[in-house]
Amino acid sequence: MEPGLTVSAVRSRRVLCSDGVRPALILIKDGKIQSILPDPDSALKGPAEVLDVGDKLVMPGIVDCHVHVNEPGRTSWEGYWTATRAAAAGGVTTIVDMPLNSIPPTTTVGNFREKIQSATGQCFVDTAFWGGVIPGNQLELRPMIQAGVAGFKCFMIHSGVDEFPHVSDSDLHSAMQQLQGTGSVLLFHAEKEIGEIPGEEETTDLRSYSTFLKSRPDLMELEAIRIITQLCMQYQVRCHIVHLSSAQPLEIIRAARQAGAPLTVETTHHYLSLSAERVPTGATLFKCCPPIRSMANQEQLWAALRAGDVDMVVSDHSPCTPDLKRLDVGDFTQAWGGISSLQLGLPLFWTSAANKGFTLPDVVRLLCKNPAQLCCLDNQKGSLLPGHDADLVIWDPDKEFEVKEANIHHKNTLTPYLGMTLKGEVYATVVRGRLVYKEGSFSPRPLGQHLLVCPGRSHASL
Ligand SMILES: [Zn+2]
Repeated sequence: MEPGLTVSAVRSRRVLCSDGVRPALILIKDGKIQSILPDPDSALKGPAEVLDVGDKLVMPGIVDCHVHVNEPGRTSWEGYWTATRAAAAGGVTTIVDMPLNSIPPTTTVGNFREKIQSATGQCFVDTAFWGGVIPGNQLELRPMIQAGVAGFKCFMIHSGVDEFPHVSDSDLHSAMQQLQGTGSVLLFHAEKEIGEIPGEEETTDLRSYSTFLKSRPDLMELEAIRIITQLCMQYQVRCHIVHLSSAQPLEIIRAARQAGAPLTVETTHHYLSLSAERVPTGATLFKCCPPIRSMANQEQLWAALRAGDVDMVVSDHSPCTPDLKRLDVGDFTQAWGGISSLQLGLPLFWTSAANKGFTLPDVVRLLCKNPAQLCCLDNQKGSLLPGHDADLVIWDPDKEFEVKEANIHHKNTLTPYLGMTLKGEVYATVVRGRLVYKEGSFSPRPLGQHLLVCPGRSHASL
């Protein structure tokens, strides 16, 4: 079966159903899962395009709710065409685009329309959009919710780009007042300036990773998260901490949640796969903010995932052109902070998670179901259920492969994962019943849709 075709059924000996992995036949009609039959050899009525995948595992497509596409404005960094092809090749069937790094940023209804316009006709997988909270745009928030943004993101520290300024405490109070009662969610880049950083003046080697790490201590995340938990409690507006890197704030996160704060937390593949001890000198490909921390810290993040204190794992795919990484000088202070990994999320996670005793249902919970809930898309995405969109990733969790530049579909192929051997190879990706990717080939046309979100429509809350 060629990419681009409409699939009417998927047959496998290994379908990840709600009660475990078993043989099944997934019937698809009008882009939705119609039913899941326990007998994979059930007879089909009339002519049918059946995708028989043998022993390959079928599960819900990945929902990656933290992707910087950068189009329009910084399309040389990444664009919808390349990002969504990479997503499809990685089994990601929905991405949610971040409001910054594109020009203009998604901070007004007009800018949101411009963003949608630039994505039109270019998406190979489904795409939803975050809006942004910046100083002074509070009155745009409710109209943007009406227009269909999945929620909003703000920064509590310089964002890295001047057109997306960070908010003050009073901006946050105004934004929270606007969001009260809407069902929408505010995402926080949770780092805050803390003034003098202990020991920073002694470090001069700008190529050394430890110099960079010292400049973004755990305390910056801790301080930001203390403020977020208070705001979340006070206003009872859904709040979400993006890319938690430090394990130190977990205690206050746990306490706030126990006290009833509607607070969720994500971490990223790089914090779970890479560690400060292993970043080579001058290897600015590893730079991101907040930074990749120690192995001991990483173990605590894994424990928090296991305990349910961290709800989901996302890519935070944030690429740039090679020159901005300043690999020529290897200076961490000058290099753009951001790591590319959209296509590699599933195998990156599974390679470590399987070793640590995580199961395939854990993968679905952390990479599909919970991200879909965060974006109020769980009524159509993130689960293999009749009535849900027929978004599937078909993969071999046991197959190992080497990450090679030739197989990376991001616009810029620079990534710290080149040369690594990962476990779990994606065989095919189905979006709303259309085969968009199979064994290195893509559908001839982009078949993804824009997802406009209605906050009241979610089935459940995390
Ligand atoms: Zn990000």
